[in-house]
Amino acid sequence: MAIISTEAVVLRTVPLRETSVIAFFFTRSHGKVNGVLKGIRKDPRKFRTSLDKLSVNDIIFYQYRNSDIHLISHCDMKEHFPAIRVDIKRMTAADYACELLNKIMPVEQKNEPVYTLLLDYCRSLGEARDPGRLVHMFQIKLLALSGFRPHIDSCVQCACAVTHKAKFSTRQGGLVCPRCERREPGLIPVSPGALASLIYIEKHPWLQCLKLTLAPSVRKELKNILNNFLLYHLEKNIKAAKYLE
Ligand SMILES: [Zn+2]
Repeated sequence: MAIISTEAVVLRTVPLRETSVIAFFFTRSHGKVNGVLKGIRKDPRKFRTSLDKLSVNDIIFYQYRNSDIHLISHCDMKEHFPAIRVDIKRMTAADYACELLNKIMPVEQKNEPVYTLLLDYCRSLGEARDPGRLVHMFQIKLLALSGFRPHIDSCVQCACAVTHKAKFSTRQGGLVCPRCERREPGLIPVSPGALASLIYIEKHPWLQCLKLTLAPSVRKELKNILNNFLLYHLEKNIKAAKYLE
């Protein structure tokens, strides 16, 4: 058994018996970690945290070898983002990110770039007038950092440059040029504007992407491409997706 100290973002919680809570964290040092906070419901002062969704905490946990639910001995809140919880659109965007991370990321595998992305997302969401735009940025960057990157630099079949009349194949996970386009059902046309936005968001730092303007038509396209791609490859629906704009 190892004792581990790390920083962690709360993804969700479920009550355990009368007195305790199981918390699902995304941690800086071990990726997704689940743990029990014993007695927190009976005596909330036992831990210096509210365990609110997307709050950032310093935690210490006892990592058991034969269980994927560990014992959390300390959980001290560092950042809380109250502005997320007073706005239904921001909360929906928070729910979506937590659910997507939970479904896409493996248990207990360190991925610090994803942790940093999550922190950037939390901090921006607290100030966001347009949370839907942040969701697209989060989706695109998370796909690239988690090994699910769609092939958008060239045709996924013949590797030629695709500059116009590109279509996106969810099955093949990338762009298909007009020559390779066969009778594959469900190909999604991609406008040059949507393609440029996808590539820009994937390649640039979070703060720089915040300055990018996305036209309503481009957002509609991105939503369609990304949601279909995620559904096909995860084989699971993200429940919160239907509540996003
Ligand atoms: Zn091709």
